Amino acid sequence: MSNEAERTLVAHLPGTDGLCTGCRAWWSRLTPYPCWQVNWATSRQARSLTAALLGGRA
Ligand SMILES: [Zn+2]
Repeated sequence: MSNEAERTLVAHLPGTDGLCTGCRAWWSRLTPYPCWQVNWATSRQARSLTAALLGGRA
């Protein structure tokens, strides 16, 4: 269960200051959490979950 979306979620965690630790560590960017990568990963996971549920009927 290790895909790009999950790796993104693991790398981009909220810091104690409310900023994304992943964006700061990787790009030295001060981005409020959730950053766009987290939004992308969560929507991607939701889609894959939906696809998995619907896949049984396809
Ligand atoms: Zn981030």
